[in-house]
Amino acid sequence: MKDIIIERLEERGVKLKAVADIVYTLQKPYSENLSIDECLESVHKVLEKREVQYTLLTGIALDKLTEKGHIEEPLSSIIKSDEPLYGVDESLALAIANIYGTIGFTSFGYLDKNKFGIMEKLDTNHDKVNTFLDDLVAGIASAASARIAHQKRNEKEAKMKEEKEVS
Ligand code: MG
Repeated sequence: MKDIIIERLEERGVKLKAVADIVYTLQKPYSENLSIDECLESVHKVLEKREVQYTLLTGIALDKLTEKGHIEEPLSSIIKSDEPLYGVDESLALAIANIYGTIGFTSFGYLDKNKFGIMEKLDTNHDKVNTFLDDLVAGIASAASARIAHQKRNEKEAKMKEEKEVS
């Protein structure tokens, strides 16, 4: 299943490395020695979750169906124009952002206001309908970033405990 998801994302112009770049930008100020490979690994871990996979399949399908004219009006126009009050795209993606707790929620809010990298590209590509995809990418990046934040905190706590035991 994960392979299908990666394929679908690539078909829509999203490479995992581009998502890892967003994770790096989000997490770098808080984690010293952070590498792009760590970010990429975290993105992979997020994509292994079945609930994430289902959410991605749903959102990507809605973008594609809208693009092909298979969604009825008025919904089709609402999705196509990325109507600000629609909000279903964000709600769907938030389910991904929150899989590692509320830290992901904060990043998601930030990315929603400051689209950069691949998100900005998706947002400004008007040949395609990416209403769901840009938020889904933000969801994956936020979750992967939250995962790293938790991991780094656990490492720090383990190290502090170790130091305490030695002294
Ligand atoms: Mg959107």
